[in-house]
Amino acid sequence: MDKKVAIVTGGGSGIGKASALRLAEEGFRVGIMDVKEHRAMDVQDKIVSLGGEAMAIDLDVSDEQRVIAGLEEVNKHWGRLDVVFENAGINGTFAPIEELGAEEWEKTIQINLKGTFLMVKHSIPYLKQRGGSIVITSSVNGTRTFSNIGMSAYSTSKAGQAAFMKMAALELAAYKIRVNAICPGAIRTNIDQNTEKKGHLEEVEIPVEYPDGKQPLENGPGSPEQVADLVCYLVSEKASHVTGTEVFVDGAESLL
Ligand code: NAD
Repeated sequence: MDKKVAIVTGGGSGIGKASALRLAEEGFRVGIMDVKEHRAMDVQDKIVSLGGEAMAIDLDVSDEQRVIAGLEEVNKHWGRLDVVFENAGINGTFAPIEELGAEEWEKTIQINLKGTFLMVKHSIPYLKQRGGSIVITSSVNGTRTFSNIGMSAYSTSKAGQAAFMKMAALELAAYKIRVNAICPGAIRTNIDQNTEKKGHLEEVEIPVEYPDGKQPLENGPGSPEQVADLVCYLVSEKASHVTGTEVFVDGAESLL
């Protein structure tokens, strides 16, 4: 039988990388899509060195023509699509609303939210053929916790992804396509490296009871591998009746 095919956006680093590796271990052929091509290539090479099948695709999820072309490339190569892990995202600029530029707001929304719309929209023709599974990476910051001043664009994009997931789950159930969102808490990845912080965040920050990244279950942030395990469950047959839901993977951080 043909091996199943999964694509992972933002697959070159952090949660996406760990998930691409885990999906390959589970027997999927994996398309690794990332705007940083060298990162996607490294993950591709690692999967191949472990005996799996993978292809790196240089792609910005907010660029519609590249999304269409990237999906065509995967289909041409492997002839099917079963799983879409729409995970690429940025923190963008953290600033008080008064000081956040419209173009900074737009960049975060374009990549995190429009990117999700584009990836899901253009995957449907392929997923429809056999049914499939879509997982979208939202965040505790879009759905439960709003503890940090300055994250208005990020939180809005993540809340938008969760709302979009529900609409997609309803609409795509007719094609046996399941759609779910994961909501990680703080996870040890590279995402903070490119976060621009500006304005007087420290002056308006809400005091929180726990040090940065502390989660009740662990004494610090979670690992990308812990999130990857959840992704593998959600795309598996074991989750065959799970759709339209947000699953938290945050060590209860969002309940503090
Ligand atoms: P990361 O920076 O380690 O990985 C993100 C990857 O996405 C990078 O390789 C980056 O090059 C890629 N990327 C960025 N913009 C892209 C674009 N326009 N098109 C294609 N690829 C792009 O970060 P991560 O923490 O693994 O983030 C993955 C997802 O998890 C994001 O959606 C993020 O919002 C979400 N998330 C992360 C945390 C956390 O604490 N790390 C918590 C909640 C949610």
